[in-house]
Amino acid sequence: MKLFEYEAKTIMGSVGINVPKGQIIKVAEEVFSLKLNYPVVIKCQVQTGGRGKAGGVKFANNIDEVYEIAKKLLSLEINEIKTSSILIEPKTDIEKELYVAITLDRNRKCTILLGSSEGGVEIESSSEIKVVPIIGNYSPYHGRKLAKLMGLEQNKLSMVAEIINKLYYLYETHDLELAEINPLVFTKDGKILALDGKMTVNDDSLDRQPLFDGWIVSHLTDISERELKAKLAGLNLVELKGKIGIICNGAGLTMATMDLVKNYGGEPANFLDVGGGADEGRVKRALKLVADNPSVKLILVNILGGITACDEVAKALKVFASENPDKKLVVRLLGNNQAQATEIMKGTGIKSIDDLNSAVKEAVSLGSKN
Ligand code: GDP
Ligand code: MG
Repeated sequence: MKLFEYEAKTIMGSVGINVPKGQIIKVAEEVFSLKLNYPVVIKCQVQTGGRGKAGGVKFANNIDEVYEIAKKLLSLEINEIKTSSILIEPKTDIEKELYVAITLDRNRKCTILLGSSEGGVEIESSSEIKVVPIIGNYSPYHGRKLAKLMGLEQNKLSMVAEIINKLYYLYETHDLELAEINPLVFTKDGKILALDGKMTVNDDSLDRQPLFDGWIVSHLTDISERELKAKLAGLNLVELKGKIGIICNGAGLTMATMDLVKNYGGEPANFLDVGGGADEGRVKRALKLVADNPSVKLILVNILGGITACDEVAKALKVFASENPDKKLVVRLLGNNQAQATEIMKGTGIKSIDDLNSAVKEAVSLGSKN
């Protein structure tokens, strides 16, 4: 989940990182009720990069300019994302722009600190970015090392190292995948200030982050609308490009089933693990989510009944089959209460195949036909 700049800055401010005092508005007319110290900077709140370059950061010297700019920016789209609000802050006198960030490096399999003494809007094309991998636990030494690599000395080195310590604290305690300040600036009066902030929260940690409770619906995430619905329903759905819908119980069985589908020449449309002990309602929600994907014409259900009772699954399948005659079902349903399940599915037209390879072959063959 990506946070808005003003949210990231509020969180940074809560641990003592200096940020400008900003005000948020959603309607241009609200500017007339604000107390402003000119000049001000006005910034679109969009969860995407390249905002300054796209005209989403403007300066104003009086209320008329503020109003005109507010109207324009509130209707600006950047990278096809609409501006949801604008942030108005006193303009800072910048002496130098820096860049610092903390993120997970999947190749190195560790968190890394990133920094450059040439921060600002051109950072993506900069070759000056320094990296400090965090092997083991973070220590303030890492922050100082990065500040030194960035070419800073003495007081400035300590000031930047201190910011990195605080940012790292937020990265860890808030389950962030990315915490970035660009630009982090030295002001002409010798202060250090975070002028822009980006934070991405790990979606899978949201359950243990009370601060972000309920935020997911109003924030961009890396997941599709159906994946978001699944998450809210407590189901783990990942959508893919194929045509064969997959519903299994347990991540291992789901992945093994997907592998088999590929092995027999099919392409899975999704990963969906209904989890252990799924009841009729849960299986119905899973079927509906998978069937909602317009590419899916066939759903392969592979459930091994342990904690999950096969008859609960069968009840959901029976209702689904009668309500969705256009979606084909291939089902492998074995284990706990299997006999009752077979009874429930009798006469429904659902293809029930006990042998896994045969079930997958049938699904791939039926799923490839239109
Ligand atoms: P981004 O394009 O989304 O990264 O937006 P930023 O908030 O980082 O702003 C882009 C650029 O605008 C910064 O790199 C600064 O050069 C400039 N800028 C933003 N705020 C201020 C400010 O308060 N004072 C000055 N002088 N420049 C600013
Ligand atoms: Mg920026």
